[in-house]
Amino acid sequence: MNQSIRDKYDVIIGLEVHAQMLTKSKAYSNDCNEFGATPNTNVSAITLGHPGTLPVMNKKTIEFAIRLGLSCQSDIARNQYFARKNYFYPDLPKGYQITQDKTPICVGGQVIIKDDNGKEKIIGITRIHMEEDAGKSIHDVDVYDTLVDLNRAGVPLLEIVSEPDMRSSSEAYNFVTEIRKLVRYLEICDGNMEEGSLRCDANVSVNLKGAKSFGTKVEVKNMNSIKNVQKAIDFEVIRQIELVEKQENVRQETRSFDALKNITIAMRAKEAANDYRYFPEPDLPPLVISQKEIDAISATMPPLPRTLYLKYTNELGLTDYDAMNITDNKAIALYFEELLKHTKNAKVAANWLMGEIKSYLNENGVEITDFPISPDKIAALIQLIDEGKVSTTIAAQRIFPLLIESNKSPLAIAEDLNLFQDSGEDVIDAYITKVIELNPNEIERYKAGDKQLIGFFMGQLMKVSGGKADPKKANGLLRSKLDLL
Ligand code: ADP
Ligand code: MG
Repeated sequence: MNQSIRDKYDVIIGLEVHAQMLTKSKAYSNDCNEFGATPNTNVSAITLGHPGTLPVMNKKTIEFAIRLGLSCQSDIARNQYFARKNYFYPDLPKGYQITQDKTPICVGGQVIIKDDNGKEKIIGITRIHMEEDAGKSIHDVDVYDTLVDLNRAGVPLLEIVSEPDMRSSSEAYNFVTEIRKLVRYLEICDGNMEEGSLRCDANVSVNLKGAKSFGTKVEVKNMNSIKNVQKAIDFEVIRQIELVEKQENVRQETRSFDALKNITIAMRAKEAANDYRYFPEPDLPPLVISQKEIDAISATMPPLPRTLYLKYTNELGLTDYDAMNITDNKAIALYFEELLKHTKNAKVAANWLMGEIKSYLNENGVEITDFPISPDKIAALIQLIDEGKVSTTIAAQRIFPLLIESNKSPLAIAEDLNLFQDSGEDVIDAYITKVIELNPNEIERYKAGDKQLIGFFMGQLMKVSGGKADPKKANGLLRSKLDLL
C-alpha cells in the first residue's frame, strides 16, 4: 500500500489475551489439568455438567488471578459472583461457560511496553476475569468428521482485556510479549502460544487521522504465535484502509487468521453471536475476598520483570538493552540476582551472562537452571580479572571451560595451570626482547617512522606470552623500549 495513503489513518488496537492457568486440577472439578493427555481421559461428570453434579471453585485460580492483578496494579474486587454464558457448540458439553461477567476479579490496571520509537508507553488494562476453557474441536485429523477432545473443557483461564490503547502491530507484539513474560514470572501460565496455553484475540479498527471517534472494529482470532498476532494485524489494517478508501463499510465481524496465506478470513458477523443470556451461576456461592487474603498473596509475590528492569537500569547503570535481555527470561534474571550477591561489578557480570554463559547455553541446548557453574564461581572469576590476576581472554578461553568440567575454584585452576597474568617488569621485558629478536624487519620499519606497527608488536607480545602478559603494563613498557631503540 502507498505510504501516503497509509499515513492518512490511525490504527486502534485492543487485545483480549486468554491464559490457561498452571493449576493441577481444573477450575471447578478435580479433573487433571494437563496438556497432551490421551483425548477425553480427563473428563468427569462435573466437566460434562451432568444433572446432579455441582462445580467447586479451585482456590488456586483465585490466588493466580490476584497475583496477576497485583502485578498490573489492578484493583482487586472484594465481592464477586460467577455468571453463566450460554451458547451451543460441540466442544462445550455443559451448554454454558462459567465466567465472570459483571464482577471481574481485577478491575483497571496497566502494563508498560515500548512504542515504535523505543519509548515507554502505558497500555491500560480494562479488566481481568476468571473463566473456564471449552473443549477442542479437531478438524484436521479425520477426513470426514470433526473430532472433539473434552480434556480442555473446564481448564481455568484468565482473560486479560486491554484498553484500545495500541497504535501499531508492533505495539501489540510488545504487549503480548510483556503479558507472556509476566505470567511466566508469576508462574501462573506457561505462556506457550503454540500449544494454545496463551491465546490472543486482536480487535483492530482504522480511522482517518483527526476523526472524532474510532472506526468499526474487527476481532481476529487463531494466531498461534506472537509474530502471527503482528502479521494478522498488519493484514487487517491494510484490508480495512482499502475498504474505507473505496467508500465501503468495514463490517463488524470476527475473522480468523490463516497462517499459511497470511490473511484473515470472515468467520461470523458480530451482531448474531452476542446473545449469551448471561445470568448469575446458581451452583457457585458468591466469592468474597478479604484484605488479609490480598496481603498474604502480596507478601509472596515473586520478583517482577519490571522491578528488576528498573533496578538494573536505574541503580546498577546497565544499558536498556542489557536490562531487557536479562529480564526477558526469569531463570536468567534469577541467576543474575544470585551473581549480584557475590560481585559488585554488575556491568561485567552482565557481559559474562549475556556473552560466555548464553553462548554455552545456546551451543549446548541447556537451560540456565541446568548450567553447571554456580554464580559464586563466576563472581570469583570476575574478581580475578578485576584484581589483574588473569586477563579476560584467559578467563574466558582457559578457565571458563574448566569450570564447566570440574568443581575447582577459578583461583585453583589459575594456580594449577599457571595462568596468572604476567605484570612483573622483568618478565615482560623478556617478552619484549623476544618480540624484537623475532621481527627485525618490522623493527626497522618502526624505527623509520611507521609507528602504527605498535599494534602488531602488541599482538606479537601477547602471542609470545601465551596471552598472559598484562596488556596495560606491556603496552607502556613496549612503547618506551621501542622508542629507545
Ligand atoms: P465487545 O463488546 O465487542 O466485546 P468491548 O468494548 O468489550 O467490545 O472491547 C473488546 C476489546 O476490543 C477490548 O480489548 C477493547 O480495547 C477493544 N476495542 C474496543 N473498541 C475498539 C476499536 N474501535 N478498535 C479497536 N479495538 C477496540
Ligand atoms: Mg467484551
